[in-house]
Amino acid sequence: MKIHEYQAREIFNHFGIPTNEWIVAESPDEVAQFAAEISAEVVVKAQVHVGGRGKAGGVKLAKTPEEAYTIASRIIGMDIKGLKVRKVIAARSIDIKRETYLGITIDRSVKKVVLIGTAHGGVEIEELARENPEAIHKIYVNPILPVQDDIFKEMGNVLFSEPHLARQAADILSRLYNIFLEKDCSLAEINPLVLDGEGRILAADAKINLDDNALWRHPELVALQDIAQENPKEIEAKKYGLSFVDLDGNIGCIVNGAGLAMATMDMIKAAGGQPANFLDVGGSSNPEKVLNAIRIVLMNPNVKVIVINIFGGITRCDDIAAGLIKATGSMEIPVPICVRLTGTNQERAQEMLRGTNLISADTMRDVIAKAVSFV
Ligand code: GDP
Ligand code: MN
Repeated sequence: MKIHEYQAREIFNHFGIPTNEWIVAESPDEVAQFAAEISAEVVVKAQVHVGGRGKAGGVKLAKTPEEAYTIASRIIGMDIKGLKVRKVIAARSIDIKRETYLGITIDRSVKKVVLIGTAHGGVEIEELARENPEAIHKIYVNPILPVQDDIFKEMGNVLFSEPHLARQAADILSRLYNIFLEKDCSLAEINPLVLDGEGRILAADAKINLDDNALWRHPELVALQDIAQENPKEIEAKKYGLSFVDLDGNIGCIVNGAGLAMATMDMIKAAGGQPANFLDVGGSSNPEKVLNAIRIVLMNPNVKVIVINIFGGITRCDDIAAGLIKATGSMEIPVPICVRLTGTNQERAQEMLRGTNLISADTMRDVIAKAVSFV
């Protein structure tokens, strides 16, 4: 789950990570009032769940309260990468001398937490990783064991060569690490962590992603969810107990079981196609689920064909067939549907589907080959 910068800033400040003075606002009036109160340059920042707001015009400086008002009224209501801005941060603008980067995430391939730092902050880290990977310093730590201060110091020295600045950065990293553990984050990131004109180190941005599987331990964090910023297909899927992940391709997938769903996507790719989504209908038999799965897959206008791949165990093929018949009878389905049903009650299911315009296939390879031929 993603949270907004203003929510992450609250956590940062609570854990003692310094930021520039800030407020969160929903109207240009509040922004102008803040600018008048501090009587200094302010930075106005769009609150949306995407990175690169700066480049997209969502981060702007204002010298006067009037200018702050104008900028805030332009940013509030703006659309950034498909997401509407409803709130902004107004903060005392930092006189930035240097921009560095600190991040903490999980590296699943080594089953460790990785601390990431570079003296070259401000730019997107993925871009830096491509162009100048040796500038990025990584330290792997075991989250079960206590981390020695030396580790944080080592990273502090990567960010700043001056000892007093390196110490400040190390202290901020140790606090960021506490947040990472305590809040069960999948990412905690400060980009940029800046040096200001008075020699202070401040977080100019705050990003926290939370591990969905640990949210049950943090009801106060669940409350931070901003539904309007989430993928509408994923919200719908969650409502009906379907596991769904949106992807870039054009072949919609409806499969039972996560493993079979992954294998289906792999085989689509191997056959030259591109999956539009991952969707696991789960183990239970329920025609209603099939109907909702088709509806959610079709919310993606790129979908040109749907593959249904069911291995009936607990899931009964005739229930799936009933769901398919209900779906074709109750909604407009503008794309071909290729179906492979095997296992429990497969004969009955095939009988039910005879005479419909669903395209049946006997094997997984066959159903995928048929689907790929439509794109
Ligand atoms: P992002 O683009 O979504 O990552 O948003 P950031 O909060 O990181 O802001 C983007 C860029 O705007 C930063 O890298 C800075 O260069 C600049 N910026 C952010 N806050 C300030 C500020 O207080 N003062 C100045 N002068 N620039 C800022
Ligand atoms: Mn940033």
